[in-house]
Amino acid sequence: MDFDLFIIGGGSGGVRCARIAASHGARVGIAEERHWGGTCVNVGCVPKKLMVQAAEYGAWVQDSHGFGWNTQAGTHDWAALMAAKDAEIKRLNGIYVKLLENSGVTWFFDRAIFLDPHTVQVGDRRITAEKFVIAVGGQPAWPEIEGADLGIVSDQAFELPHMPRRVTLVGGGYIGVEFAGIFRGLGADVDLLYRQRLPLRGFDHELREGLADALQAHGIRLHPSVLLHRLEELPDGSKRLHLTDGRSFDSDLVFFALGRTPNTQTLGTEAAGVTLAPNGAVVVNAQNVTSQPHIFAIGDVSNKMNLTPVAIAEGHHLADRLFGPSIRTWSFDAIPTAVFSVPPIGTCGLSEEQAAAHGAVDIYVAKFLPMRHTISGRQRRTLMKLVVDQATQRVVGAHMLGDDAGEMMQAIGIAMTAGATKSDFDRTIGIHPTSAEEWVTLRTRTRVTPHTATL
Ligand code: NDP
Repeated sequence: MDFDLFIIGGGSGGVRCARIAASHGARVGIAEERHWGGTCVNVGCVPKKLMVQAAEYGAWVQDSHGFGWNTQAGTHDWAALMAAKDAEIKRLNGIYVKLLENSGVTWFFDRAIFLDPHTVQVGDRRITAEKFVIAVGGQPAWPEIEGADLGIVSDQAFELPHMPRRVTLVGGGYIGVEFAGIFRGLGADVDLLYRQRLPLRGFDHELREGLADALQAHGIRLHPSVLLHRLEELPDGSKRLHLTDGRSFDSDLVFFALGRTPNTQTLGTEAAGVTLAPNGAVVVNAQNVTSQPHIFAIGDVSNKMNLTPVAIAEGHHLADRLFGPSIRTWSFDAIPTAVFSVPPIGTCGLSEEQAAAHGAVDIYVAKFLPMRHTISGRQRRTLMKLVVDQATQRVVGAHMLGDDAGEMMQAIGIAMTAGATKSDFDRTIGIHPTSAEEWVTLRTRTRVTPHTATL
């Protein structure tokens, strides 16, 4: 065999798996056909966060007036932002390749396709390996509607030649909500369409309600409980959206954010004997093993919890398990996550509804205007919420909508992973004056939600 381990896909999960396996002495090869660092680094988390930050400055300029600054926002230079973003992504691409080289991994910038369970075609080479890891991620889903090709998906959003004046986001998940905030912050008129009553299905209900209010306060027009039925191009190049409720309106850019599809269409999984789920995801067990005992799958391609740090943890754990003297473990019970909306969301553990399905819960909620905005004049309220299992008093859910929510939730995630109870939160000394101190001063129970309550 040419390699002990061959990894298909050089995203965050694949690269981590390759480096760790090589550091344990394995002969490792990795193939990537598009860009090192995968979706997250190139057309996902990283450029998105840079764009979120770009969008914040306009509001900060306005907010500074309350503090005595005589500042003017001026106009935003889209091309300058794209150039700065591209330079940073290029730098990160280079770092990924260096990391692989420094750890002794052999890399191939080519597509890999299984020819049989132990062989892949990589460009014009045939490569054999003892074990394989599929880490090819996913791609944005397109809707099956008339005129779908008139819209874009997230991959194109990072290379628009100029900033559109009117933008419509279709889909009320992570990407729809985040890009609504980005384009609004940069000055566009923004519409957000989704088929549920509230955005972010699966998140805590109260948080979702707070988010819908906040998005509207930010000037984003919400169109809940509706589907896009047809898209039409007008003579001036703009798009007319026809909705299922009979309404129609025009926009310059229609952006589909309808989830992602695993990248398994041309991987040769059949030749490898790897079973796919009906949605194209590679079927794995809890140990990331596919239907072939020597082939593994990590990250979005297995469509479990599609988050970069989860893919990294899976890749690292797998490399340790296959080749390491010791195994680093992660807790997947309470995974903290953030949505970089305006304002951002941080969440960890169970929603009130999910927790109540297991037993009665004590709910603690604080809603307040953070100190900065008492003077900035911006009506950007913060929502913080703890969901506490009544029987054990363990904090089983923490949810926040407000400035710095993502930053805070990482630390709350540590407490929850350690099994902290409400009294552990209560006996922690706060940091004053911060919004974060609210986590340890939520003294009065807001309500009790009985077992299997439906809200
Ligand atoms: P999501 O799964 O988060 O949301 C998809 C949205 O599209 C939902 O509102 C869904 O509605 C809707 N939808 C799906 N199919 C249809 C359809 N046929 N017609 C109408 N609406 C439809 O996907 P995203 O594309 O927003 O993001 C992809 C993934 O990337 C996320 O799930 C997340 O794992 C990851 N991500 C993480 C980020 C972060 O950590 N901050 C940021 C961005 C992405 P419904 O709810 O009814 O199904």
